[in-house]
Amino acid sequence: LNKPHHQAVQHPDEFSLIKRYFQRKAKQRPDVMMGIGDDAAILKIPQGELLAAAIDTMVAGVHFPEKTSPFDIGYKALAVNLSDLAAMGAAPAWLTLALTMPQSDSDWLQAFADGLFLLANKFDMQLVGGDTTRGPLTISIQAHGFVKPDDIIYRHGAKAGDQVYVSGTLGDAGLGLLAVTQQKQLHDHDKNFILQRLNRPQPRVELGMALRGIASSAIDVSDGLIADLRHILDASQVGAVIHAENLPLSSALKNNLTNEEAVKLALTSGDDYELCFTIPKSREQEFLSKINSLSVPCTRIGDIISQPELQVNGYHGEISTTGYQHFAK
Ligand code: ADP
Ligand code: MG
Repeated sequence: LNKPHHQAVQHPDEFSLIKRYFQRKAKQRPDVMMGIGDDAAILKIPQGELLAAAIDTMVAGVHFPEKTSPFDIGYKALAVNLSDLAAMGAAPAWLTLALTMPQSDSDWLQAFADGLFLLANKFDMQLVGGDTTRGPLTISIQAHGFVKPDDIIYRHGAKAGDQVYVSGTLGDAGLGLLAVTQQKQLHDHDKNFILQRLNRPQPRVELGMALRGIASSAIDVSDGLIADLRHILDASQVGAVIHAENLPLSSALKNNLTNEEAVKLALTSGDDYELCFTIPKSREQEFLSKINSLSVPCTRIGDIISQPELQVNGYHGEISTTGYQHFAK
């Protein structure tokens, strides 16, 4: 059927494109009964596990600067979804890809697929289906993973007395965005690190899975620490005290900003895709010995309190409390 209003990429074109760039690379998992090639994927969830499903859309010019490389776009579109699975404690399994692009450019598609599959292969994920249409560059990826009912880490489990932790360092991606969009000058030997932090976030999948049965709540930091921690506090009906001097800052961030600027980015800039989570005191020893074997550093930045408010000690600048809002007036 011809659907001019739908503007599908022309059919023969669409099929060969999918085959060439997305099907031949697909990893074959034993739990995929039918992947790309039929009307729907048919997938098998292991006994005793639940399905975790997360979807995120990236629109050119909104979620990434227009000049971002196709490799980085493919990589990051999956990374942000893996980060959501990580925050639930889920193990990644499958992904679907809805790709809208202005034209079918084979160099662009090759690089996009290389970035996407680099990460998919790293986490043993299979691309099992999707949709391809013509229009302004927009990428939606849905990631699916497994988690046992007792292992799920919700936002709503934080309790007064729990300790607040964050993985990695904060603010680096925010500085990267300033460098790319506002020509903020960076010292030469920090450029690479900062741009990698913006374009190639490391989803904290192993950490999320290690926190199963230990963390009382978790969220991934996509909109900025304050905005995202607030989601945990709201869902858990608690508050928190955060100490600005305890925020983990990279040496690259400190080299290129005043302390005040660095702390502001660490608190408010998005795109770091670190995990923020809470650990009950009774699980602290277990937590510390568990993360010893992981390569990701975790830093204690504060405590959960019963009064439902967020205090940031040692920071006196302006703090926008809501993060980036697409439909804000
Ligand atoms: P339908 O019209 O039945 O939706 P499509 O032409 O959209 O079929 O897709 C044909 C097959 O190719 C389906 O299995 C679909 O999941 C897969 N597919 C389409 N686009 C993509 C894509 N961008 N990535 C992965 N699989 C895709
Ligand atoms: Mg379709």
